[in-house]
Amino acid sequence: MATKSSRNLEEPESSTTVEEKVVKVNGEVAIRRYNKGRFLGKGGFARCYEFTNLETRKITAAKIVSKESLKKSRAKQKLMSEIKIHRALHHANIVGFEHFFEDNENVYILLELCTNQTTNELLRRRKRLTELEVQCYLHQVISALKYLHSHRVIHRDLKLGNFFLSDKMEIKIGDFGLATKLEFDGERKRTICGTPNYIAPEVLDGKQGHSYEVDIWSLGVIAYTLLVGKPPFETSDVKTTYRRIRMNAYSFPDHVPLSEPSKSLITRILVNDPAKRPSLDEILAHEFFHQGNSIPKLMPPSTLACPPSAS
Ligand code: ADP
Repeated sequence: MATKSSRNLEEPESSTTVEEKVVKVNGEVAIRRYNKGRFLGKGGFARCYEFTNLETRKITAAKIVSKESLKKSRAKQKLMSEIKIHRALHHANIVGFEHFFEDNENVYILLELCTNQTTNELLRRRKRLTELEVQCYLHQVISALKYLHSHRVIHRDLKLGNFFLSDKMEIKIGDFGLATKLEFDGERKRTICGTPNYIAPEVLDGKQGHSYEVDIWSLGVIAYTLLVGKPPFETSDVKTTYRRIRMNAYSFPDHVPLSEPSKSLITRILVNDPAKRPSLDEILAHEFFHQGNSIPKLMPPSTLACPPSAS
């Protein structure tokens, strides 16, 4: 139960202690206490705060979902599936899943804390990124995707807002709320899901079902967005965006200088027939990643505000 740690009722939310009941093997009940600190952000369902374990002092990000919002069985099912898929994943470029518990009011999901927000905020500040940065970030995302797909997990909501940045500026893919785990490799999924700008044409079409290739499509949308500064199919209304996606109607703006390899990579990926899209290994072998420069493993934190120096 969340309790105010101070008698002063005027105290801001940040001074709240959250208690977790831990039932030991011998049946004894212990209490683990967390300090609920800084507000990190909110999503469709969850509000996220910094949590400090008061015993170990370990700091994590806690996604708090109110049980009130889980009354509809679909929402509850979605959260259970998110937890089941995410807790089994272990990769340097996937947000670490620490632990989850509940009290009378909420479900708490403790995650690896990513202190540098997401690539969404990064792009908002920077307008667009250099090719070197895009090479560096895509490398990390592809490494995580190879891991996910080899475990038959399709993320289905890859977008800038789900790429978190750690204190070391590593990319960490998060939010497995729309992810699915296939029973077998040839299985086709039919649920329509995703985020309008990033959704693959076969998801909109819905006839043949979809599979891993939806994540590859999103990767193309992400590469374009990072290099150009806005998503390729963006319009002011969703229906027009969907029409553009179905018609593959996008272009490279004249005012942004893009190299031929970057245009070629995006054009190769954003192909409406999912079977004709490149595999993750084919993407890594593309000339975009082999232009003579060595790709840094990480970008320095200074690039949160300014482009990397040309040297
Ligand atoms: P929802 O599933 O409800 O969409 P999100 O996973 O998008 O929730 O999380 C909501 C917000 O919380 C994010 O936009 C971000 O600001 C913050 N957040 C989520 N996970 C972390 C994390 N691991 N580290 C830091 N902040 C996070």
